[in-house]
Amino acid sequence: MSQPTITVQKASNSRIDQVDFDNLVFGNVFSDHMFECDYKDGKWQNPTIKPYGPLTMYPSAKVFHYGQAVFEGMKAFKDDNGKVFLFRPADNLNRINKSSHRMAIPEFPEDLFFDGLTELLKLDREWVKPGLGNSLYIRPFVIATQNGVSASPSTEYKFMIILSPAQAYYTGDVKVMIAEKFSRAADGGVGYAKAAGNYGAQFYPTNLAREKGFQQIIWTDANEHKYLEEAGTMNIFFRINDQLVTAPNNDRILDGITRKSLIKLAEREGVGVEVRQVSIAEIVEAAKDGSLKEIFGAGTAAVISPVSAFSYNDTVYTLPVMEHSFAKKFKSLLMNIQYNLAEDMYGWRYAID
Ligand SMILES: *Cc1c(COP(=O)(O)O)cnc(C)c1O
Repeated sequence: MSQPTITVQKASNSRIDQVDFDNLVFGNVFSDHMFECDYKDGKWQNPTIKPYGPLTMYPSAKVFHYGQAVFEGMKAFKDDNGKVFLFRPADNLNRINKSSHRMAIPEFPEDLFFDGLTELLKLDREWVKPGLGNSLYIRPFVIATQNGVSASPSTEYKFMIILSPAQAYYTGDVKVMIAEKFSRAADGGVGYAKAAGNYGAQFYPTNLAREKGFQQIIWTDANEHKYLEEAGTMNIFFRINDQLVTAPNNDRILDGITRKSLIKLAEREGVGVEVRQVSIAEIVEAAKDGSLKEIFGAGTAAVISPVSAFSYNDTVYTLPVMEHSFAKKFKSLLMNIQYNLAEDMYGWRYAID
């Protein structure tokens, strides 16, 4: 298939000197350029890299009314020789297309995704800072741009990639509340997709949890609120004695790249991982008898985010402080691969030049 070439309009001045890279707030600063490609007349066209800036759209654009929008989250890393790497980017492309499919959005072509992404990263490579913990967060997304408020899928879309420099993300002491009433996703719904509305719908219950002193919610199954499924916007792992347990993927749970990478690394390290339903009753019991050693969330932004306590039915269960935590160990094993500090046994690194 012939592919349209990417038009590049360079920014006349870089904004990089105005950025304090030692005091970044996650997701607040964006690099000099962005990638944009439109879907019109049944095809993706006019791929362009241009200076990061505002979009002009009509208020009737469908994305504003029906939330037809999906996104991805990935990162670029720089090693000590200045080489830039992505981590399993093909999985992000597959996933955005899976999300798009569910939201009746046309899939984005693989060659255009990789060409757009690598051209953009080459242009803004100075925004990827070396040093363990520094990264350039990559946000691809698709929005419905057709004008008109009839409730039907858009015939026009915009695929974009924007880039935001990020530092090591210390989530600190994360206390979580187990959802007993609210749900993130239901059977047959869109929980497995990175659909924009999934996140908007979490804000209100998460705010209620915050008011009670918990930073995140552990989402449970919508049918019975009996099984633990995800931690905020991360997948969830439990360490019971020296074994890890994580919920299986289904249509309510997002198939995380961090999660599946950790499962693979655990197997390599000889740590058993059970992929199965995890009930609240089991975890409460394990917390009481001391066999529950750790709970952590897994996702691109923080890699691994340890949980210090959880609440269920108005009781707070505090987790032990582990000297040799799996959270620390696996975070470091994974980051060493991402930063080209360890052998890439599974072909996860993707060099951009
Ligand atoms: C993005 C996301 C994750 C983590 O996926 P990664 O590929 O590891 O970043 C987990 N759960 C939800 C709900 C997510 O949106």
